[in-house]
Amino acid sequence: MAGGSLAVATGQFTCSRCDWAAPAEVTVWRCPRCASAIEFASGGNTELAVQALEGEGVWRYKDWLGVRQMVSLGEPRTSLAAFPGQPGVMVKNEAALPTGAFKDRGAAVFVAWLAERGVAHIALDSSGNAGAALAAYAARAGIACDVYVPRSTSPAKRVQAQIYGARVVPIDGARAASGVAAQRAAAEQGVVYASHIWHPAFVLGVQTLAFELWEQCPTLPAAIVMPVGAGTLLLGLARGFQRLQNAGLIQQVPRLIGVQASSCAPIAEQFGFASAGATAKSSIAEGIQVADPPRAQQIVAAIQESDGCALAVDDDAIGEHATELGSAGLLVEPTAAAAFAGLQQARDRDLLAAEESVVVILTGSGLKTLSESMLAEPNLGPD
Ligand SMILES: [Zn+2]
Repeated sequence: MAGGSLAVATGQFTCSRCDWAAPAEVTVWRCPRCASAIEFASGGNTELAVQALEGEGVWRYKDWLGVRQMVSLGEPRTSLAAFPGQPGVMVKNEAALPTGAFKDRGAAVFVAWLAERGVAHIALDSSGNAGAALAAYAARAGIACDVYVPRSTSPAKRVQAQIYGARVVPIDGARAASGVAAQRAAAEQGVVYASHIWHPAFVLGVQTLAFELWEQCPTLPAAIVMPVGAGTLLLGLARGFQRLQNAGLIQQVPRLIGVQASSCAPIAEQFGFASAGATAKSSIAEGIQVADPPRAQQIVAAIQESDGCALAVDDDAIGEHATELGSAGLLVEPTAAAAFAGLQQARDRDLLAAEESVVVILTGSGLKTLSESMLAEPNLGPD
């Protein structure tokens, strides 16, 4: 994603791999020639005008997103706070977004892009948070929404999407089976397949997290630690920071450290921090169970360009760090606790020096995933 371009042409698709390019159409979700992920074309070197920023949250950056329509649920600027007892560690709490997860950034911009094109009905697949976020923004935009989820998805996430009015369809099998089901249903029913994993508008919305961090930090941290599944968070941050750097607004992109669950760690494997073939087994970190991410090459390249790495943590470490975050008053989903566990591992492996400043992205609320399995010592006795 290197290059000098600052603006994004949201009306023009290009392929991330071959030389296919065409005006953006809502029915196209991957390259029709080589089946790789599509991108928006570069909009050239239009200035990223700081004086154009207005309000707070995702739509503060409207002029930088190239989307004319806004769909908003009142997104706040999420807090960035020091983590007690760990000097130099800050946590960015994305649970404060309207549906309780960072996915709202991508969903707001993706649904706005779809609404701008008159889309009336979408089908999508999700492990939970993205489905809930897209269902909420689709509801606000008056777009009908079908969400295909793995049957193992947290009941709270399924019910959440249903309360937003989505039709939720549980699918047996691994995470990928839900994608196949959504694509098939969309094709058969003439509905738009709105995949947050494939569509560039979703990653575009996640760039606002980089913009927000830039405005919140007098000096950007040396590293940012986050969970990685399909990579929309990591790619959104990488591209957002890249654009800020191209615009001369920051000197350097922070090192990006991606954290996966050791039971499903195809990206960490590329960095030698997970064993081959450890894919698609269950983990409590359901948000990052993506065995074959369509943007894997882009994720690895973005990490390498930032001089970062990808690690894998096991369920025990995730549970321990969920408890540690809880002790600091932070109730996070296991996927977010995985990032915190990854920070510990990065320190233990000397990938991060003790004095280096770090931001950990707390991707989502723990309210959706409450389960006694999160407790090191379940206490089921009477009061
Ligand atoms: Zn292609």
